[in-house]
Amino acid sequence: MARTFFVGGNFKMNGSKDSIKKIVEDLNAADLPSDVEVVISPPALYILWAKELLTNPTIKVAAQNSFPKSSGAYTGEISAPEIKDAGAEWVILGHSERRTIIKETDEFIAEKTAHALENGLGVILCIGELLEERDGGQTLVVCNRQLDAVIDKVKDWSNIVIAYEPVWAIGTGLAATPEDAQATHLEIRKYLAEKLGEEQASKIRILYGGSVNGKNAKSFSACPDIDGYLVGGASLKPEFIDIIKSRE
Ligand code: PGA
Repeated sequence: MARTFFVGGNFKMNGSKDSIKKIVEDLNAADLPSDVEVVISPPALYILWAKELLTNPTIKVAAQNSFPKSSGAYTGEISAPEIKDAGAEWVILGHSERRTIIKETDEFIAEKTAHALENGLGVILCIGELLEERDGGQTLVVCNRQLDAVIDKVKDWSNIVIAYEPVWAIGTGLAATPEDAQATHLEIRKYLAEKLGEEQASKIRILYGGSVNGKNAKSFSACPDIDGYLVGGASLKPEFIDIIKSRE
């Protein structure tokens, strides 16, 4: 099953009007492969700005979070219809920083996922284990539990991309080895096949995230069950373009 390669850039809480302008202008000027889906995720305040500057229509924009209500008295929150209205087509949900720092639960993330999908956004659903969970042999138990909450609420996964991001690899410079990541991705796909059927599971893109950079990206893309990357720190740098082109 051919799955379109996907590269996401998660800027996290970084950027300014000037720095985002520079990143978008560099992306506009780059000769990017036509068979890679590229999605950048600036802080919500800069979504409109990024949309205004992007001239390459194949580059899409994602929000980094959304609230599971469309409007109302939810001070400080941002809804899926608002994200769509600003021109973004995706939202990142379940990022480990939101799970661990903001204490979002599996159920809340599942609720947000269902609501974002119902409102026409694609969802980049992040899952992944902490270092102590990995050391305790719990990697798949944790990933499956995080997936289960969403499987309970969502049956059609055609607009979900999974980002497997081992928490110990995020922002540490210590990426998983391609062999390790491939083995986990394969297990995740098997689990999805069990729960959602072979057909759906074979179509779901599973990205690797955690210290992907211009040097190591290629080694991940060679793995059969790694369908792209979710890139944090390196998405703010010129090497993001090398990462997008890493399969060439
Ligand atoms: P990193 O972050 O590439 O800086 O490790 C990845 C992510 O958090 O999505």
